[in-house]
Amino acid sequence: MGHSLLASFQRDGRRVTRPRKAILAVLERTRHPMSVSEIHTSLTRGKIAVDLVTVYRTLSVFKQLGMVSRVEFQEGQFRYELCQGRAHHHHIRCRGCGHIADLMLCPLKKVLAMVERETRFLVEDHSLEFIGWCPQCR
Ligand SMILES: [Zn+2]
Ligand SMILES: [Zn+2]
Ligand SMILES: [Zn+2]
Repeated sequence: MGHSLLASFQRDGRRVTRPRKAILAVLERTRHPMSVSEIHTSLTRGKIAVDLVTVYRTLSVFKQLGMVSRVEFQEGQFRYELCQGRAHHHHIRCRGCGHIADLMLCPLKKVLAMVERETRFLVEDHSLEFIGWCPQCR
């Protein structure tokens, strides 16, 4: 597990419980945004007994602390991935096989400035996910 992640957790006065450690470890092993049920399945396979509610709650704590980002591909569920060590980026998910690829750029930088100018809001976050067909499925 990444030491700086643990450190930021402890600085925040949170206890690093066994489920939290285990969920972090699952996210660190995986290179794509995972759904709550995928995380839960992976924990169960590793013989770690954590119920779904705990997985949900833990991910929402991680989100509040800025440790994970949340993405949504019109599946009716959120997916989570660790922010640490990864630049801000977007994703595309295949409708056929479910493969998710990173898009290592943000095409929205200029748009964000326009949104702020136009609305006088301060933009805190944004999402932009693509759905399509991968090279194997197209
Ligand atoms: Zn595919
Ligand atoms: Zn990603
Ligand atoms: Zn972006």
